[in-house]
Amino acid sequence: MARMERKKVTETLKTRSLDPMDLPFSESDLKKRFDLVVCDIDYTLVDFEPANQAGIRKLKEFFGEKMGEQIDIIFQLVLEGNRKREDEPWEHREEYESLMEKVAGLQPVTSKTFGVKVWSREAYIIIAAQATGVNLDKKKVEEGRDMYWEELKNNYRLFDGAKKFLDLLKTLNIPLLLMTGSDAVLNVNDDLTLNYDPEFSKQYKMRRLSADFPNIPTIIGDPIDKQYPEYFDNLFGVEVKKLGNFSPERTLVIGDSEKADLMFPRERGYPTLLVARG
Ligand SMILES: [Mg+2]
Repeated sequence: MARMERKKVTETLKTRSLDPMDLPFSESDLKKRFDLVVCDIDYTLVDFEPANQAGIRKLKEFFGEKMGEQIDIIFQLVLEGNRKREDEPWEHREEYESLMEKVAGLQPVTSKTFGVKVWSREAYIIIAAQATGVNLDKKKVEEGRDMYWEELKNNYRLFDGAKKFLDLLKTLNIPLLLMTGSDAVLNVNDDLTLNYDPEFSKQYKMRRLSADFPNIPTIIGDPIDKQYPEYFDNLFGVEVKKLGNFSPERTLVIGDSEKADLMFPRERGYPTLLVARG
């Protein structure tokens, strides 16, 4: 007799917001079905775009309107590319790949050791300056970077529904683990190449998150970021175990990016919930 195929294919659940009213299960089902929630932060819990726009406004003041706008265009392209699967038809694919080559070119050492750090705002600043003919030095890049993240932090807000969802988890006594990517905060060399120090990048992000999510265990994608399976090996194999003994099928994984947040967990038998606001 042929051996039974035991691999379980779980389907991704979908919701248009994390407001308990919108969830595809009732509050009592949430408690019955899940012992732990693992949740992405940006665009899932936090309304990242207004915060990003506040940061971009600062960059426009500092570097000029044209260059600031260029930085935003680059960021939006990276964001969209990050959500697309590689086999998905996409009209900006070529543009995206050429941008990724430029970002990698600024990280000659890092890209070989850690892979390309695609979220580096330092890289976007340098590329935008080249495109708009603005002269830069190391100090200006770092000042712009720090200004952007500081302003972003000051405008960081939870979605209304997400706030209700977090309160509900508390009420139901379901523990929460936050999983977020790296901000890829890089050191700038005098020749305007970029270097990655995982600890520096991680602490930089920790500082900006600590005010909004105090006392919630948080995994940050340094040194290995979400696009790699090793991120999830560490998340499920090490970090979840620190919190207790949770079975995959009773652990709900939530995110806004099918590719970055949910693909690997689902393949490993974790129930997944996609927050698709668009
Ligand atoms: Mg996200």
